[in-house]
Amino acid sequence: MSGVLIVGAGLAAVRTAEQLRRNGFDDPITIIGAEEHPPYDRPPLSKQMLRGEVDSVALKPVEFYEDNQIALRLGCPARAVDVAGHTVELADGQVLGYDQLVIATGLVPNRLPALGDLAGICVLRSLDDCVALRDRAATARRAVVIGAGFIGCEVAASLRGLGVQVTLVEPQPAPLAGVLGERAGALIARLHHGEGVDVRTGVAVDAISGGDGVESVTLSDGSVIAADLVVMGVGSRPASDWLTGCDVDVADGVVCDAVGRTSAPDVWAIGDVASWRDASGTQIRVEHWSNVADQARTLVAAMLNLEAMVSPGVPYFWSDQYEVKIQCLGRPRAGDTVHVVEDDGRRFLAYYERDGVLVAVVGAGIPEKVRTARAGIAAGVAIADVLQPV
Ligand code: FAD
Repeated sequence: MSGVLIVGAGLAAVRTAEQLRRNGFDDPITIIGAEEHPPYDRPPLSKQMLRGEVDSVALKPVEFYEDNQIALRLGCPARAVDVAGHTVELADGQVLGYDQLVIATGLVPNRLPALGDLAGICVLRSLDDCVALRDRAATARRAVVIGAGFIGCEVAASLRGLGVQVTLVEPQPAPLAGVLGERAGALIARLHHGEGVDVRTGVAVDAISGGDGVESVTLSDGSVIAADLVVMGVGSRPASDWLTGCDVDVADGVVCDAVGRTSAPDVWAIGDVASWRDASGTQIRVEHWSNVADQARTLVAAMLNLEAMVSPGVPYFWSDQYEVKIQCLGRPRAGDTVHVVEDDGRRFLAYYERDGVLVAVVGAGIPEKVRTARAGIAAGVAIADVLQPV
């Protein structure tokens, strides 16, 4: 009666369990979670939850787990897998058997230990992080957000919404430059600038100073910024340390084939922690919400040997900053040629070209035009056809 054991109680765990039941799997399903909270959704943590606009981010009501006979064992992380014995050991010493194991442990936020750990330095990955940051923000006047990736940009926008002065510091030439390229990044910098954020690019943080709490931040160009709150949005790493020495291949995430199978028999991985092989044979780890549902359909189809092959959709993610929804379809890469085809000073639309083909679109505040580009990206249309439609 071992059934499927899912380690990690986040979106990927819930989507996997949901797909298993939807496809008629009726053996036991158990979800192991390190946190005390039932599975919850992370996107609102940097948006509505941080701004105090919602007070629940639960992914499902409790009845969902009861009705679908999905057992939740929360508040105790897994610490090892015995691949040969088909068991998982929890931090409290309990040992659970499995027929199939799904690793869905997500990410751990990076910190910059050289900058110390004064009170008022926050990260944002979990619900507890969000509550701690929201409490700090309630009395903060000046915040420095280190790192202008998605989390940093969204936190900067939410803190502005709460009336906090914000300086956004990014070593790259523009916010989100690593993901969307410098051209789109500059348009996002303009959006933040227009909302009163002091955007500092091309500089790093050298030191955080203070006594009982944060008082100032020193940048690599020598400038000193007064601050009573610092948010480190400096990326995350796969939560895979617990697999060390467990005969499951890990290399920037749990290494999987194109359907989520790991190097170990009857062990699968999904979500932010998993590095899946794509159609070109490249290992890719995606840290976005929509990807999880696509992977769950694919993984469960493979696990249950279902006939229907699931084809991956066009990759998609979004980010909400102020009232602007930034959306990306496809997978932009450094080196793509970027064509900004619409720009009203706030909202914009950009097409990404590689080898003469439309490979991605990024829109800010123009959802209908982003949607329209999906078929063209899937079909690999020539960029010339998109730029000069007949
Ligand atoms: P997670 O949601 O991180 O879940 C993993 C769970 O595993 C965690 O609860 C963790 O506590 C648990 N765990 C870890 N180690 C263990 C262990 N050893 N044993 C047991 N449990 C363990 N994506 C978008 O596309 N758009 C957005 O706007 C967006 N906003 C976001 C905002 C924030 C603040 C964050 C953090 C993420 C955002 N994302 C967004 C990304 C999206 O939320 C993730 O892609 C998604 O949560 C991945 O789900 P997951 O289940 O793989 O990982």
